[in-house]
Amino acid sequence: MDPGPDELWRLALEHSPVGMALVDLQGRPILVNRALCHMLGRDAEELRTKGFPEFTHPDDVEADLELFGQAIDGELDSYRMRKRYLHADGSIVWGDLSVAVLRDPDGAPQQMIAQVLDVTELERERRTLEAIFETVDVGLLLIDEEGRYARMNRRHAESMLMPFPDGHAGQAGQLGDVFDPDGNPMAREDMPSYRAWHGEEFDDLRLWVGSDPDQRSAWSISARSVREPDGELAGAALAYKNITDLMRALKVKDDFVASVSHELRTPLTSVLGHLELLTERPDLPPDIARQLAVVERNAFRLQTLVTDLLDVARAKEGSLSLTLDPLDLAMLVRDAVGAARPAADARAIRLACDVPEAIPLHADGHRLRQVVDNLISNAIKYTGREGSVSVTARVGEDEGIELVVSDTGMGIAEEDLPHIFDRFYRAGEAEAQHIPGTGLGLSIVRDIVEAHGGTLEVASTVGEGSEFTVRLSRR
Ligand code: ADP
Repeated sequence: MDPGPDELWRLALEHSPVGMALVDLQGRPILVNRALCHMLGRDAEELRTKGFPEFTHPDDVEADLELFGQAIDGELDSYRMRKRYLHADGSIVWGDLSVAVLRDPDGAPQQMIAQVLDVTELERERRTLEAIFETVDVGLLLIDEEGRYARMNRRHAESMLMPFPDGHAGQAGQLGDVFDPDGNPMAREDMPSYRAWHGEEFDDLRLWVGSDPDQRSAWSISARSVREPDGELAGAALAYKNITDLMRALKVKDDFVASVSHELRTPLTSVLGHLELLTERPDLPPDIARQLAVVERNAFRLQTLVTDLLDVARAKEGSLSLTLDPLDLAMLVRDAVGAARPAADARAIRLACDVPEAIPLHADGHRLRQVVDNLISNAIKYTGREGSVSVTARVGEDEGIELVVSDTGMGIAEEDLPHIFDRFYRAGEAEAQHIPGTGLGLSIVRDIVEAHGGTLEVASTVGEGSEFTVRLSRR
């Protein structure tokens, strides 16, 4: 005989993975299914005779009874809570309990149906995440799709006091004592929380907070979008790392580099002056002359290094001064290419130069020559034997000058590209191949170009070559 609907229902109940019980108004289980017995490690008889309060963690009994009472009184038709049960082996089982009231036609409560989902694993994970959230030495903030502060950890709550001494309304983009790396107050649309709320993702966004410039702390902020399964933006997660010590150490390093390179210059100038006098003497034995030439070559290298260091330090302080004079950029480029030719020839590199007759310009000739020399010497340095390097300059529309130095060399990896203008940065491949350098040249090039109001761009493909473009305005 086929089982009737009641029997089917009983079977479904019995085999459900969810713990279920039919409970009387005293809270005593009348029927319990197999899953519930298994979950609590007790048989149906024990559950029926003792009642749920006996198997509930003492701290959760009151809340459960309270809701149970409200359901019986008709204040609630159902309720749901997360509570702890006591397993027969003494362990704790986290359950997600849903209770619905069954009433007779007059509305009087008759019985309750309780369903319990074992969420012990989920709860353990949640608590682990919670512990990490509160323990990490990083401020964490979650914002919802409306830009409201949905959650933050203690670390972040503490760090909010400095930029927002009068409190924060919990909405992304609130203005406070927040400053960009140059010390300018930040606008609403530049605030990290505002940008993250609008779907931007970023890393290491640096800013300073605090009203007193001497007491400010520095932060590095990363943001990632949180999305619904359908890809809709649901909010963002931000991580705030305190980098005050790092920034102060960098400042000390900059000051140190500046003062050391400054101090080195005077004795070096004297060494070079005397070397020049010495090497001009006609009575030098040939072997001494050879050795002096080596000393002189290295002293010049040292001077270039010290000058680079000093330039970098000056640019950092914003005191890279320019002496503007009328000059011919075409001639300057031709001279630089001529000076680089021996180095190119030594490696059988084809060095081409394409510039118009003249490009009159008002600029700092010494500094621009540094730019062109640096770009050409890099192009030669990072191009293998028999490659080619080309230097072009032209005047385009709006009197804009475009200077391009391209090569067929090793190229620059994508992950290095954003950093090659950073001071002391050298691409991994340059280091791996032991190509000599300090990682200062491009940072100086960029500082000089920007001091002239121009821009410097790079495009590069690994194994194919690089192209550096300087744009200057003639005005
Ligand atoms: P360096 O003294 O190391 O040459 P730069 O500041 O001039 O310092 O350049 C920074 C880094 O950029 C270099 O170490 C190199 O990895 C990379 N680079 C610069 N120019 C080129 C180029 N033309 N081709 C390939 N890599 C380059």
